[in-house]
Parts: sequence; structure tokens; C-alpha cells
Amino acid sequence: MQAWVIGNWKQNPATSHDVNVLVDDLLTAIHAETQTDTSLSNNRCTLMVAPSCIHLAAVSARLKDSPVLCAAQDIGGHSASTGAYTGDCSAQQVVDAGATWTILGHSERRQYYKESHDSLVKKLTHAFSQNLGVVLCIGETQTEYDNKQTLEVIDTQLSVIKDLLAEQPAFISLLSEHLIIAYEPVWAIGTGKVPTVTEVSNTHQHIKQTVAGFAETLDAMTVLYGGSVNADNADSFAADPMIDGALVGGASLKADSFLAIANAFN
Ligand code: 13P
Repeated sequence: MQAWVIGNWKQNPATSHDVNVLVDDLLTAIHAETQTDTSLSNNRCTLMVAPSCIHLAAVSARLKDSPVLCAAQDIGGHSASTGAYTGDCSAQQVVDAGATWTILGHSERRQYYKESHDSLVKKLTHAFSQNLGVVLCIGETQTEYDNKQTLEVIDTQLSVIKDLLAEQPAFISLLSEHLIIAYEPVWAIGTGKVPTVTEVSNTHQHIKQTVAGFAETLDAMTVLYGGSVNADNADSFAADPMIDGALVGGASLKADSFLAIANAFN
């Protein structure tokens, strides 16, 4: 199965200059890797980065001839491609800026901007209407983890897919190629704390089974792990067949650690 390693740059880097330095480093490191045998050259791992919206067009233009895809970090919740929605970027606009995917439902959007189930169903609809792939983030908080509610929380968050299909049955043909689930326990994001590989593996198995229950064609869902993945722990996650890649925050801001994680999954 194809692995995915995706860098979520969040609200980083601070300046266009620093964004360019990161892209330079990434392109240099990829070029060096593809000259060797033990590297990304076998192409098992798809690489993608999600810059902030303001840098999306510039980064995607610079990565155009590289193996690295570009994603948006979110899209607006209104169906219109244009209109009076201050602060939003529509699915059509991020596609025009060079994104082929978007992250949706990241816990930071859920926590700080009260991203709701209904808003996510709408955003999924807009994304798929524009042929934009979606990396749908799900995961439990520390309290939910402590109360052993992980699977219950995940089932509720995954039900956006069921509701989407009830509203838009035609999207079923898109989903196997255009949907990736990222399991990111909120308590593991940016904390240096990680669940055990067995915990992640069992949760991923549950996610795969649940999504397969929505439609037969979704029986091989790609499920990534995210939360404090780094160059040191990536190998252990990559060794588990239930873990199809990683959604990486902090470690994706350094080209060498991002590529070390990619190589672990390659
Ligand atoms: P960290 O890798 O910094 O923990 O962030 C994970 C994340 O939120 C990726 O979306």
C-alpha cells in the first residue's frame, strides 16, 4: 500500500523569506535523496505539505516539478466559490492556488474555531465538488483518552462520512482515492507524548473497519497517525501495517527531519 507523509506547517514559518528557505531545503534534500538507492527513489511514499493559505500559491508554484504535493489546511464552509465570506478561502480558490488536497477537521480548528459536525459535512461536500482530496483529522482529548472514550469519540467524528454519503451518494466513487483519515490524539499534538504503537494500531484497525462499514468500496482506507511524530519514533510507527503514514507538525518544519520520517515509511 502507498504510504503518505504529510507536513502540516500550521501558522509557520513567519515570513515569506523563511518559507522559501524551507522549500529550498526540502528541494535540496529531495534531490540528494533521489541520488541514492536507500531513499525516496523507490517512490513508495507520497509526500505532501500544507503551507498556510497565504503561502500556498507560492509554495505550490515552487514545488510544481517536484514529487511533493500541496494541500490547504482548511477551506471555507460556504458552498459558493466566491462571495461575501470575509476571511474564508473557498475550495475553488485553494485549487486555483495549486492545492490538490485539503486538511479538514484538525483538532486546532475544532478547538479554537468550534468546527462542527455540520460544518465539516459542508466542507467535505465543497472539497469533493472541486475534486479536492481531503485529509480528515480525528482524535480524542486527554480527558477522553483517560476515560477510555477514544473509540466512541472517533465513531462520532467519522460519522461525517456517513452523513456526507447520505446527502451526496454520488461521492462514493471519489472517496477511495480522495479521502485519507488522520488519527491525531489531541493530547499527543505538540507535546512529545505519544500513544504506544499497539494503541495506534488498534485504533487504526477500528477506523478502517468503521469506514468499510459505510460502503464496500471503502475497505482499504488510508489511515495516518499524527501527534509528536519525529525522526526518532517514525520507524516504530512505520513498522506497523495498520499505520499508512504520518501527519507531521513540528518536525515537518525542518527538511531533514521531514525526509527522515518519509524514509521511515518508504
Ligand atoms: P506535531 O507533529 O507538532 O505534534 O503536530 C501534529 C499535528 O497536529 C499535525 O497535524
